[in-house]
Amino acid sequence: MHVIIHLHVFMNILHLISSKKEESPKIQKLKESCKDTATCPVSFPKDELRERLTPIQYKVTQEKGTERAFSGEYNKHNEEGSYRCVVCGNRIFTSEDKYNSQCGWPAFSNVLSQEAVTLADDTSHGMRRVEVTCSRCGAHLGHLFTDGPAPTGLRYCINSAALAFTKKTDDANKLMTKKIKSEL
Ligand SMILES: [Zn+2]
Repeated sequence: MHVIIHLHVFMNILHLISSKKEESPKIQKLKESCKDTATCPVSFPKDELRERLTPIQYKVTQEKGTERAFSGEYNKHNEEGSYRCVVCGNRIFTSEDKYNSQCGWPAFSNVLSQEAVTLADDTSHGMRRVEVTCSRCGAHLGHLFTDGPAPTGLRYCINSAALAFTKKTDDANKLMTKKIKSEL
Protein backbone atom coordinates (compact mmCIF):
# COMPACT_ATOMS: atom_id res chain seq x y z
CA MET A 1 0.00 0.00 0.00
CA HIS A 2 2.74 2.42 1.05
CA VAL A 3 4.69 1.56 -2.02
CA ILE A 4 1.71 2.41 -4.21
CA ILE A 5 1.21 5.77 -2.50
CA HIS A 6 4.90 6.58 -2.79
CA LEU A 7 4.88 5.60 -6.44
CA HIS A 8 1.87 7.81 -7.05
CA VAL A 9 3.56 10.80 -5.37
CA PHE A 10 6.74 10.12 -7.30
CA MET A 11 4.84 10.01 -10.61
CA ASN A 12 3.13 13.30 -9.77
CA ILE A 13 6.46 14.95 -9.03
CA LEU A 14 7.89 13.55 -12.26
CA HIS A 15 4.90 14.90 -14.16
CA LEU A 16 5.34 18.34 -12.59
CA ILE A 17 9.01 18.45 -13.44
CA SER A 18 8.52 17.33 -17.02
CA SER A 19 5.59 19.65 -17.71
CA LYS A 20 7.52 22.57 -16.22
CA LYS A 21 10.42 21.89 -18.53
CA GLU A 22 8.26 21.94 -21.62
CA GLU A 23 6.19 25.01 -20.94
CA SER A 24 7.16 28.66 -20.77
CA PRO A 25 6.97 30.00 -17.19
CA LYS A 26 5.07 33.01 -18.53
CA ILE A 27 2.20 30.85 -19.81
CA GLN A 28 2.24 28.75 -16.66
CA LYS A 29 1.75 31.86 -14.56
CA LEU A 30 -1.13 33.00 -16.77
CA LYS A 31 -2.79 29.60 -16.50
CA GLU A 32 -2.71 29.75 -12.73
CA SER A 33 -4.78 32.92 -12.82
CA CYS A 34 -7.46 31.44 -15.09
CA LYS A 35 -10.74 29.79 -14.34
CA ASP A 36 -11.83 26.30 -15.31
CA THR A 37 -13.93 26.12 -18.51
CA ALA A 38 -16.42 23.90 -16.69
CA THR A 39 -17.40 26.79 -14.45
CA CYS A 40 -18.53 29.07 -17.30
CA PRO A 41 -21.40 31.18 -15.97
CA VAL A 42 -23.20 31.50 -19.32
CA SER A 43 -24.29 28.85 -21.81
CA PHE A 44 -26.51 29.02 -24.87
CA PRO A 45 -28.61 26.28 -26.50
CA LYS A 46 -26.82 24.96 -29.60
CA ASP A 47 -29.98 25.51 -31.72
CA GLU A 48 -30.06 29.17 -30.83
CA LEU A 49 -26.38 29.56 -31.68
CA ARG A 50 -26.81 27.83 -35.05
CA GLU A 51 -29.45 30.43 -35.92
CA ARG A 52 -27.69 33.44 -34.49
CA LEU A 53 -24.13 32.77 -35.68
CA THR A 54 -22.79 32.39 -39.21
CA PRO A 55 -21.53 28.88 -40.09
CA ILE A 56 -17.87 29.93 -39.63
CA GLN A 57 -18.63 31.69 -36.32
CA TYR A 58 -20.34 28.51 -35.10
CA LYS A 59 -17.57 26.24 -36.34
CA VAL A 60 -14.82 28.30 -34.69
CA THR A 61 -16.47 29.04 -31.34
CA GLN A 62 -18.40 25.79 -30.76
CA GLU A 63 -16.29 23.21 -32.59
CA LYS A 64 -12.83 24.70 -32.05
CA GLY A 65 -12.43 25.39 -35.75
CA THR A 66 -9.94 27.77 -37.35
CA GLU A 67 -10.77 30.22 -40.10
CA ARG A 68 -8.51 30.25 -43.18
CA ALA A 69 -5.43 32.46 -42.71
CA PHE A 70 -5.88 36.00 -44.07
CA SER A 71 -9.61 35.38 -44.57
CA GLY A 72 -11.05 36.99 -41.42
CA GLU A 73 -12.63 40.45 -41.39
CA TYR A 74 -10.50 41.69 -38.46
CA ASN A 75 -7.13 40.45 -39.67
CA LYS A 76 -6.23 43.86 -41.12
CA HIS A 77 -8.66 45.89 -39.07
CA ASN A 78 -7.16 48.98 -37.46
CA GLU A 79 -10.10 50.96 -36.05
CA GLU A 80 -10.06 52.02 -32.41
CA GLY A 81 -12.39 50.12 -30.15
CA SER A 82 -12.91 46.88 -28.30
CA TYR A 83 -13.25 43.28 -29.40
CA ARG A 84 -15.89 41.14 -27.71
CA CYS A 85 -16.70 37.44 -27.72
CA VAL A 86 -19.12 37.00 -30.65
CA VAL A 87 -21.20 34.51 -28.64
CA CYS A 88 -21.77 36.30 -25.32
CA GLY A 89 -20.46 39.86 -25.77
CA ASN A 90 -17.72 39.52 -23.14
CA ARG A 91 -15.15 42.33 -23.68
CA ILE A 92 -11.83 40.61 -24.25
CA PHE A 93 -9.40 42.70 -26.31
CA THR A 94 -8.83 46.34 -27.16
CA SER A 95 -7.42 47.85 -30.36
CA GLU A 96 -4.56 49.28 -28.28
CA ASP A 97 -3.11 45.77 -27.88
CA LYS A 98 -3.75 44.70 -31.50
CA TYR A 99 -0.69 44.50 -33.72
CA ASN A 100 0.20 43.23 -37.16
CA SER A 101 1.90 39.90 -36.59
CA GLN A 102 1.49 38.94 -40.29
CA CYS A 103 0.37 35.48 -39.19
CA GLY A 104 -2.97 35.78 -40.99
CA TRP A 105 -5.20 36.17 -37.94
CA PRO A 106 -5.89 39.09 -35.60
CA ALA A 107 -3.10 39.22 -33.02
CA PHE A 108 -3.14 40.89 -29.62
CA SER A 109 -0.25 41.33 -27.18
CA ASN A 110 -2.56 41.36 -24.17
CA VAL A 111 -6.12 40.83 -22.91
CA LEU A 112 -8.30 43.52 -21.33
CA SER A 113 -8.43 41.52 -18.13
CA GLN A 114 -6.95 38.13 -17.33
CA GLU A 115 -10.35 36.97 -16.04
CA ALA A 116 -11.85 37.41 -19.51
CA VAL A 117 -10.18 34.29 -20.89
CA THR A 118 -9.46 30.73 -19.86
CA LEU A 119 -6.27 29.00 -20.98
CA ALA A 120 -5.93 25.25 -21.48
CA ASP A 121 -3.50 22.75 -23.01
CA ASP A 122 -4.37 21.76 -26.57
CA THR A 123 -2.53 18.81 -28.06
CA SER A 124 -4.74 18.40 -31.15
CA HIS A 125 -3.31 18.24 -34.69
CA GLY A 126 0.00 16.89 -33.37
CA MET A 127 0.94 20.22 -31.80
CA ARG A 128 1.34 21.40 -28.23
CA ARG A 129 -0.49 24.70 -27.99
CA VAL A 130 -2.37 26.76 -25.42
CA GLU A 131 -6.03 27.21 -26.26
CA VAL A 132 -7.76 30.51 -25.44
CA THR A 133 -11.49 30.38 -24.62
CA CYS A 134 -13.97 32.98 -23.38
CA SER A 135 -14.26 32.49 -19.63
CA ARG A 136 -17.89 33.64 -19.64
CA CYS A 137 -19.39 31.24 -22.21
CA GLY A 138 -16.57 28.81 -23.06
CA ALA A 139 -16.38 29.84 -26.74
CA HIS A 140 -13.15 28.85 -28.48
CA LEU A 141 -11.29 32.00 -29.54
CA GLY A 142 -7.83 30.92 -30.69
CA HIS A 143 -4.38 30.16 -29.25
CA LEU A 144 -1.71 31.87 -27.19
CA PHE A 145 1.96 31.97 -28.22
CA THR A 146 5.03 33.54 -26.63
CA ASP A 147 6.49 35.23 -29.73
CA GLY A 148 4.65 38.53 -29.27
CA PRO A 149 6.11 42.02 -28.94
CA ALA A 150 7.52 43.54 -25.72
CA PRO A 151 6.65 44.16 -22.97
CA THR A 152 4.31 41.14 -22.68
CA GLY A 153 6.00 38.94 -25.28
CA LEU A 154 2.59 37.36 -25.86
CA ARG A 155 0.66 36.74 -29.07
CA TYR A 156 -3.02 35.98 -28.67
CA CYS A 157 -3.74 34.57 -32.14
CA ILE A 158 -7.51 34.92 -32.43
CA ASN A 159 -10.07 34.01 -35.11
CA SER A 160 -11.99 37.00 -36.50
CA ALA A 161 -15.05 34.74 -36.51
CA ALA A 162 -14.92 34.55 -32.71
CA LEU A 163 -14.97 38.33 -32.32
CA ALA A 164 -17.45 41.20 -32.54
CA PHE A 165 -15.98 44.68 -32.83
CA THR A 166 -17.35 47.80 -31.10
CA LYS A 167 -15.99 51.15 -32.29
CA LYS A 168 -14.59 53.44 -29.64
CA THR A 169 -17.10 56.16 -30.52
CA ASP A 170 -19.95 53.66 -30.14
CA ASP A 171 -18.65 52.78 -26.68
CA ALA A 172 -18.45 56.44 -25.72
CA ASN A 173 -21.95 57.14 -27.06
CA LYS A 174 -23.43 54.26 -25.10
CA LEU A 175 -21.78 55.46 -21.90
CA MET A 176 -23.07 58.98 -22.56
CA THR A 177 -26.64 57.71 -23.14
CA LYS A 178 -26.47 55.71 -19.90
CA LYS A 179 -25.25 58.77 -18.02
CA ILE A 180 -27.99 61.00 -19.44
CA LYS A 181 -30.66 58.36 -18.64
CA SER A 182 -29.43 58.02 -15.08
CA GLU A 183 -29.55 61.78 -14.66
CA LEU A 184 -33.18 62.06 -15.83
ZN1 LIG B 1 -18.18 34.37 -24.61
